[in-house]
Amino acid sequence: MRVLIGGGSGFVGRELTRLLRDKGHEVTVISRQPGPGKITWGELESSGLPPCEGAVNLAGENLMNPLRWWNESYKKDLFSSRIDTTKALAQAIAASPSPPHSWVLVSGVACYQPSLTAKYTEDSQWTPFDLLSKLVKEWEASALLPETVAQNTKQVVIRPGAVLGRDGGAMKQMLLPFWLGLGGTLGSGSQPFPWIHVSDLAGIIAHALEPPTDTPSPSQQVFNGVAPALNTNYEFTKELGRVLRRPTIFPVPGFVMNALMGSERAVVLTQGQKVVPQRTLEAGFQYKYPDLSSALKEIVGS
Ligand code: NDP
Repeated sequence: MRVLIGGGSGFVGRELTRLLRDKGHEVTVISRQPGPGKITWGELESSGLPPCEGAVNLAGENLMNPLRWWNESYKKDLFSSRIDTTKALAQAIAASPSPPHSWVLVSGVACYQPSLTAKYTEDSQWTPFDLLSKLVKEWEASALLPETVAQNTKQVVIRPGAVLGRDGGAMKQMLLPFWLGLGGTLGSGSQPFPWIHVSDLAGIIAHALEPPTDTPSPSQQVFNGVAPALNTNYEFTKELGRVLRRPTIFPVPGFVMNALMGSERAVVLTQGQKVVPQRTLEAGFQYKYPDLSSALKEIVGS
């Protein structure tokens, strides 16, 4: 299968590319920069969709970019980098004479309202309640294909929690302070911490790219891209300290996180949701790292 990956040069995209190539598939990345094995977003717009059986969008300005202040221009980039690229791919798919059989958008669990008690499955109803949930709403809507195209192209949305892996995401920024013994809980620590190992997320995306077995439905199929273990930030902190053999005695209070990161963004770390991958499990997906201990051992040991 030929797979086109928007934002495939990033943390998740590199893992997905490795997995797909290992399975014998061909990968082309869409990037802002030209290069071997890549096309640019401008080329997608001018030349249309290259021949492919699967398409994925992973492009987006990093929410935890340590080099940027939380301000209006950053927020605008978070929206436009996701929505414009997703729209560009959806439009190219709709305009293609031979659209791919699968179109996968990776969004996020920020659509579910943080709660210490509520459990969310893919069937949970939600309406936007803050900036990031509004982003997810617009982002997923921008991926929708016209009904005539959707009859032949399966539309999938995968909502990951924090993606854990050594080469990117939250771990890249956390490993050093934890190594130095400066790690600790964030906020109260009792908030849920939905997470997934990057290798499992790549596996779920690859699974979603498989050809549909039935006539595709005109709506998007949603899969929660989280591990089945439900953990809190406290449990994550203690387990990371344990596998690193380091103390984790320096909690960072919520108000400090809000001041450092902006409260609209800090919410992803200081609050959280219990997200259940019900449909992912029902689809028969086998996790390599279903629990924190195995995931963190792999990351720290690698
Ligand atoms: P990365 O931060 O690694 O970014 C992916 C790619 O997006 C980059 O390689 C870059 O490609 C492209 N990109 C970055 N900024 C912009 C921009 N301003 N405009 C257009 N393209 C841009 O992302 P991840 O791989 O970590 O995540 C993939 C997707 O999953 C993202 O949409 C993210 O929001 C979502 N997600 C990630 C989570 C995580 O913990 N990592 C958690 C939940 C959701 P290039 O430079 O080649 O153009």
